[in-house]
Amino acid sequence: MGITGKTKVVGLFGYPVAHSFSPQMHNAAFRQLSLDYCYVPFPVNPDRICEAAAAVRALSLAGVNVTVPHKQGVIAYLDELSSEARLIGAVNTIVNKEGRLVGYNTDGQGFVRSLRTDAGFDPKGKSLILLGAGGAARGVAVQLALAGTRKITIVNRTPKKAEEIVQVINEHTQAEAEVLPWTAESLAPAVRAAAAVVNTTSLGMHPREEEAPPLETDLLVPGTLVADLVYNPVRTLFLQKAEAAGCQTLSGLGMLLHQGAIAFELWTGCTAPIQVMRDALTKELKN
Ligand code: NAP
Repeated sequence: MGITGKTKVVGLFGYPVAHSFSPQMHNAAFRQLSLDYCYVPFPVNPDRICEAAAAVRALSLAGVNVTVPHKQGVIAYLDELSSEARLIGAVNTIVNKEGRLVGYNTDGQGFVRSLRTDAGFDPKGKSLILLGAGGAARGVAVQLALAGTRKITIVNRTPKKAEEIVQVINEHTQAEAEVLPWTAESLAPAVRAAAAVVNTTSLGMHPREEEAPPLETDLLVPGTLVADLVYNPVRTLFLQKAEAAGCQTLSGLGMLLHQGAIAFELWTGCTAPIQVMRDALTKELKN
């Protein structure tokens, strides 16, 4: 990639950032479309996000992705938030519009796009169960609600976090949301009624690939869609068990891909070259 005086710079603010596959994915896309952009990872210490946000303006970066631990903290330093970022209370993409920093959250949108395009599943009017209630769950739950999901049931080891998400959905969207305790008795009827079950916990993520969320897979009705947000490994133990139970499965790779594609489109105004981006990720990830 030839860097010139005209090259536009985008990147990633996080801590750490060394594990990220976004540089490979975005730089492959820029090359494919011959766009004079480059994507650079920036390790931003937990207490330096204020200066990092100011640097987006000072260095005329075209935009950045934002990851852990800055997704919430960066909001205080932005000029504007998209409606979904405001509801989610977290930002994963910033666009520098001539010095005005606008925050977006493409995580949930990426998940919904992956549901539709990779799994052929439209959440509109359906009931879904989310296992977990961390930062990623919040983005996914809000976006599912905005996409017309009828009912969202959330179960989490720490119920208070699930209650907070449920409150946002019930107060600000048309969807109905509820919290259930993580017990087989309470989950069984909800799992049977759900069109999809989504693991949003970090259980099963590399290097603890032998872990899976504690859901008896014999509760799953064959044909139900089972999705995982974990993308490394691509085929988690949870997805393998769901597949063995006759379920359709969807890996977190699709969400990673599409959240990146939506950010790419916000920065460049060009349609993202999905296949090239998917190939770049697949090359890096374990199956
Ligand atoms: P987070 O905010 O730290 O939340 C972690 C979630 O996992 C919480 O619900 C937590 O429950 C639950 N959890 C962790 N260990 C557990 C255990 N031993 N037993 C039961 N529950 C447990 O993390 P996050 O940012 O939401 O990320 C969650 C996962 O999504 C990660 O694997 C991440 O890589 C993945 N992710 C994927 C994408 C993508 O593009 N595919 C995007 C974002 C995140 P408590 O609330 O009880 O602690």
